[in-house]
Amino acid sequence: APAETAPAEVAVVGAGLVGCLTACFLARRGHAVTLYERRPDPREAGAERGRSINLAISERGLDALRRVGLDETVLKAALPMPGRMMHAADGTLSFQPYSADGRRAINSISRSALNRTLLEAVDALPGTRLRFRHRLSALDPDTGAMEFATHGGTVTAVSPVILGADGAGSAVRAQLQTRPGFDLHQEYLDYGYKELTIPARGGDFALDPGALHIWPRGRSMMIALPNPDRSFTCTLFWPHRQLTALDTPEKVTAHFAEHYPDARALIPDLAADYALNPIGHLVTVRCAPWTVRGRAAMVGLIGDAAHAIVPFYGQGANCGFEDCVELDRCLAETGDDYAAALALYESRRKVNADTIARLALDNFVEMRDKVASRAFLARKRAEHALERALPGRYVSRYELISFSTVPYADVERRMARQRRWTAAATLTGTLTAAGAALGAGALLRRWRGPVTPAA
Ligand code: FAD
Repeated sequence: APAETAPAEVAVVGAGLVGCLTACFLARRGHAVTLYERRPDPREAGAERGRSINLAISERGLDALRRVGLDETVLKAALPMPGRMMHAADGTLSFQPYSADGRRAINSISRSALNRTLLEAVDALPGTRLRFRHRLSALDPDTGAMEFATHGGTVTAVSPVILGADGAGSAVRAQLQTRPGFDLHQEYLDYGYKELTIPARGGDFALDPGALHIWPRGRSMMIALPNPDRSFTCTLFWPHRQLTALDTPEKVTAHFAEHYPDARALIPDLAADYALNPIGHLVTVRCAPWTVRGRAAMVGLIGDAAHAIVPFYGQGANCGFEDCVELDRCLAETGDDYAAALALYESRRKVNADTIARLALDNFVEMRDKVASRAFLARKRAEHALERALPGRYVSRYELISFSTVPYADVERRMARQRRWTAAATLTGTLTAAGAALGAGALLRRWRGPVTPAA
């Protein structure tokens, strides 16, 4: 009888959204997975303050969750947002559906609830081990030796495959960074973010829960997403200078009264929340390679550890979840050969991660500035009209990013094709119109008879 192969042993560092989903996929393949996390078990301790409390999950994330049977559980606790609601400074509201048919929605989900659901799924799978309060402090990619700082002192472990899913400030990546040839580019925005809460009013939502709310204010903006407890979590995306300039309760109140008057009236603890809640940073991380092969071990990066992006397309977690699907696919295609699978995964995902990183940066300008303009709204209406007139042939970038699993780089190729095609159609239309006008002129002349010089 053929010798039974031992299940692949994998260490996943970071039990955030992507680390947990990675562990789920791998454990379902029968691999032995140990998940190391620096924080205490979030199912016991409270959620971290100030870290985006909720986030928007769309088709890419849902597709990944569907594959591990978690989509329905997650969606049950989600609030669908089929469009954006713009709040002008004078309080005027305008709603803009995300899809041409107005029915497709992105979903507001509690980060901690999603993390707990994923952790429970990992815990329930055979072959998985969870190690909380284990902060990776050292790693040798050659041997697979790891060191973790714990309350009881340093703990060591060895694994032939180590996956870094430890977020934008990845300690795993930091260990790879010292190797010659490792390329790291971090781009910090001059903006920070701060969260505030609009509590429920009279037991109900204080704003329409069926929308992602945006207060576009040119150089800065605020957004708000609904929560199941009928509150809204607002996030300010402001230049750092502006965030720190409001250093007294009076300044905070006066600023909101002037620029966000409708929201000001809905945030009773505004000044206290503002003073208490931390300022987060917004970074884009591009690095290569994502995988390093040592003599007796290999290390790979996944999720934000490989490609942190700014949150303006609502795609960071969605993109990280897609990584998990692709890694699983590559393992299936290579017969669970990690060296081959990780190389294939990187070759397929890197170009897509780079694309969404760029689009997310571009979308900041759109959200904080352009959405407020009439021209933008008119363009969106025209875009949706085109989509309805040419179903499947013309699809907006937003729809392809949020409501499909077309690879991000292919979305951009398709956009270029659509642009060429609409430009050609516009030119043909213009020529036809010009031709029609010329033809009409000739007809008119014939009908009127030849123009005779005035006597
Ligand atoms: P993380 O969520 O950062 O998880 C990393 C985990 O690793 C953490 O649990 C951490 O404690 C652990 N860890 C770190 N260092 C160590 C160590 N040394 N040892 C052990 N463990 C360690 N994405 C969306 O898809 N939609 C959105 O609407 C959206 N909104 C966002 C809004 C804001 C303000 C921000 C900042 C981000 C948003 N994102 C959104 C992006 C999303 O939050 C990230 O892409 C996602 O959390 C990445 O998941 P991850 O598991 O890769 O990393």
